[in-house]
Amino acid sequence: MTFEEIKNTFIAYLKDNAHRITNERFLILNAALNMEEHFDADELYLKMKNDYLNVSRATVYKTLELMSECEILTKHNFKGDRTRYETKIGRKPHYHLICVNCNKIIEFEYPQIEKIQDKICKDNNFKMVDHTLQVFAKCNDEKTCKNNSGN
Ligand SMILES: [Zn+2]
Ligand SMILES: [Zn+2]
Repeated sequence: MTFEEIKNTFIAYLKDNAHRITNERFLILNAALNMEEHFDADELYLKMKNDYLNVSRATVYKTLELMSECEILTKHNFKGDRTRYETKIGRKPHYHLICVNCNKIIEFEYPQIEKIQDKICKDNNFKMVDHTLQVFAKCNDEKTCKNNSGN
């Protein structure tokens, strides 16, 4: 999907839900799509400020919420960490392995997990609309893992 197509998806969503369509929102959309994996609202806000893009912090928070509602972004609540977002469009289903000490995140794909989830839905006569898997663990990176206690 091109940026224009994503933008049109977003405009349609804003219209359908009677949200204001402003240039500020498109600046945020563009900046969010250019962020590295799993970012939070403040990281995006600071990045935009550093790039001399004049947006309010509240609008960044609100617009990220809207972008996740219309499925341009996925919203994650990793245990004990701030709400994080990542681009959803164009990405394969993947899961997250999270270090509980330093919040390092490893992404992994594992198609068998999708099959199992599909089967569980079918067995219970449900139709799957979304799924998520987060594995919390301790990484073994002594150099970068801040609170590494050695176990
Ligand atoms: Zn991810
Ligand atoms: Zn760690």
